[in-house]
This record gives sequence, structure tokens and C-alpha cells, in this order.
Amino acid sequence: MRVVEPLIELGRGLWTTLRSMFEKPVTTQYPEQKRPVKARFRGRHVLKRYDNGLEKCIGCALCAAACPADAIFVEASENSAEVRYSPGDRYASTYEINLLRCIYCGFCEDACPTEAIVLGDQYELSFHDRRQAIYPKEMLIESVPAGGQPTPQKTEPGMFTRSVPEMKDPFD
Ligand code: SF4
Ligand code: SF4
Repeated sequence: MRVVEPLIELGRGLWTTLRSMFEKPVTTQYPEQKRPVKARFRGRHVLKRYDNGLEKCIGCALCAAACPADAIFVEASENSAEVRYSPGDRYASTYEINLLRCIYCGFCEDACPTEAIVLGDQYELSFHDRRQAIYPKEMLIESVPAGGQPTPQKTEPGMFTRSVPEMKDPFD
């Protein structure tokens, strides 16, 4: 009996090893292979544009006020018809996020009246010093969409006077 029991346990252990040799590997070969993130994943922020290329951010700083980590700094300047960055009176001339302070809570996203700031799917964030963790507007803003114009744009006087577009109620 003393000999049989250890042999059974040994056989069970070897069977577990043998069985796992034929299972599909779960290792992901990162960074060559990247797994898609979940739909509601909160990664690094993106500042969005409208289809015509104008920036959605109007420099209102509501995101900064809502941020519990004091991670956002916004400075606004005036738009004009000749030099227009966004619809309405003002745009963000400075927009910075300190990603070392950010806790990815999404409050900034919820507070934004124009849906300008969005937590995207970018999770590859590494820095060599603390200053590199402060992302300026140039690093946060998305590319101009196809068919749009880069900012600043020259627009007709009287166009784009409304800062906050009319939006449908969210459904989720
Ligand atoms: S996700 Fe949260 S902590 Fe990060 S910048 Fe937005 S409000 Fe601040
Ligand atoms: S991202 Fe939104 S809330 Fe923040 S300053 Fe721009 S418009 Fe205002």
C-alpha cells in the first residue's frame, strides 16, 4: 500500500504534464502580438475632432475641474473667423494631462460638454522621466480625418458660432 499510493500520485502528476503539452498555449507574444482591449477599456486620452477637422475641445476646463487627481491643465484663447480651431468663441491653446497623476477614472470624459476628451485604447505608456509623462495637446489630439482641414482654419464669419453642438441622448 505504501508503494502504490506514491505511484498513483506520480502517475497523476505526469498525466497533468502530458495533457498540458497538447493544450493551446495561452502565452501572447507581446509586443509583436497585441490582444484587443475590451470595448469599455480606459486607456490614454485622445482629443477628438469634428469631421471637418475643427477641434471639439472649446477650452472650458470642465474636465480639469472634474478631475480628482488634478491631472489636467487647460488654457483657453479666443477663436476668430480667420483663425479658428474649434466652433464657438474659445479653444484650448494649452491642454496638458499628467499621466502619472491620472487614475483613469473617466470623470473628464463625463464632464466634457462636447465629447472632446475620450479615454482611448492606448495602453503602452512608459517614461524615462516625469516630464515625459505630461502629454501636451499635440500628443493628445487625433489626426485630421479624411476630407477635413487642419487647424487653424479660415472660416466664413457667422459660421461655427455654437460651442456645444446639439447632441442626441446617450443610450448606454
Ligand atoms: S481619467 Fe480621471 S484622473 Fe485621469 S485625467 Fe480624467 S478625470 Fe483626471
Ligand atoms: S476637453 Fe471638454 S471639458 Fe475639457 S476643456 Fe475641452 S471641451 Fe472643456
